[in-house]
Amino acid sequence: MGVEKDKEGEEKNETEREMLYCPVCGSPNVEWLLPQIWSKWVCKDCGYIGVLILEDGKIAAELRKEWKEKHGTP
Ligand SMILES: [Zn+2]
Repeated sequence: MGVEKDKEGEEKNETEREMLYCPVCGSPNVEWLLPQIWSKWVCKDCGYIGVLILEDGKIAAELRKEWKEKHGTP
C-alpha cells in the first residue's frame, strides 16, 4: 500500500483513450467505413460491417477468445 511506481508516463494517456472493438470478433482493428459516414464501422479482421461497436475491452477480450476458438489462429 502506498507504493506506486510511476514509469508509464506518457503511455498512460494513450491507454486512457477509449478503445473500440469489433462486436463480432473483439478485434481492436476497426475503422470507419467512410470518414464522412462515421456511424458505420468495418472490422479488418473478420469483415464485419455495421453500426454496432464495442467499447468494453473485457467483453472484447472474451469475444476474441471465442472467435479464435471457432475460427482457429490464422
Ligand atoms: Zn471483427
